[in-house]
Amino acid sequence: MTSRTTADKSKPFFPLAGLARDGWSNEDEATATCFCGAVQLAFPTQGPGLVGTFICHCPDCHKITASMFASNFTVADTHLKHLRGRDNLKTFSQNITIIDGHTMTNYFCSTCGSLMYRVGSAFPGMSILRIGTVDDFHLHETKLKPTVEQYIEYRESWLGAVEGLKQVEGSSL
Ligand SMILES: [Zn+2]
Ligand SMILES: [Zn+2]
Repeated sequence: MTSRTTADKSKPFFPLAGLARDGWSNEDEATATCFCGAVQLAFPTQGPGLVGTFICHCPDCHKITASMFASNFTVADTHLKHLRGRDNLKTFSQNITIIDGHTMTNYFCSTCGSLMYRVGSAFPGMSILRIGTVDDFHLHETKLKPTVEQYIEYRESWLGAVEGLKQVEGSSL
């Protein structure tokens, strides 16, 4: 078995991760699938459809991920495809967020709870997907590698800055 550190990152890599076995990636597009496999999206892996990639340390992302930060990428809605399970997505909206007065809506799988994307009234025409739901794990390190860390004023002191990433207080979007 090839080790993760020496593997050719230009080749797809689909580890055992949830129930779906039909994730894929090609030159221009790849899939993101929820943990149970009911919801599957396809998205572009380059611009203009792929708008940006970032790590977010904001308080919302702490709660949403039940962890310390979120790893996100932004896709133009014109380029986002729902391959299956769109009617299995539930939404949760609220407007008491880090960006005051703007509504943020979470779209999550109603079966397994995976958060697939967020949509915000402050960011019209785009959806904010989660890098961790992308089936080809090598894309996490290549085309989808974050370029920015934002809301770094909320980053835990034991968590260092990622080398080479732009460091931004507040929103980078
Ligand atoms: Zn699911
Ligand atoms: Zn955030």
